[in-house]
Amino acid sequence: MSEKTLFQKILDQDIPSELVYQDDQCGAFRDINPQSPTHLLVVPREPLPGIADMEERHETLIGHLFRIATEVARREGLDHGYRLVINQGEHGQQTVPHLHIHVLGGRPMSWPPG
Ligand code: 5GP
Repeated sequence: MSEKTLFQKILDQDIPSELVYQDDQCGAFRDINPQSPTHLLVVPREPLPGIADMEERHETLIGHLFRIATEVARREGLDHGYRLVINQGEHGQQTVPHLHIHVLGGRPMSWPPG
């Protein structure tokens, strides 16, 4: 079996962190280096390296990840809105090669992103 990714270790609680949500397909936890007052990561248990690795068979899973992102945003009280972000690859500034959706909220965001 291949070695677990960092985010698999967090979802499995090999690395302690506060899981704000978990089910059989995914989990959500707080980013270690928050970029906004609320900054969560929604991560599938399947260690897809990035959104570019998505195949047709992942359509239901990816839909689930987005639904859970909206659910944790609601639970965090982000009633004024929030931003969902997926960084892909080098130019997308992805640093952890295990797919994740950033849930950023608690302050107004700017546009365009950097
Ligand atoms: P990316 O740059 O790949 O889109 O996002 C990776 C995110 O994972 C970053 O926002 C980074 O702060 C977060 N991160 C990296 N290592 C850890 C960790 O060990 N624990 C947690 N909770 N977040 C991490």
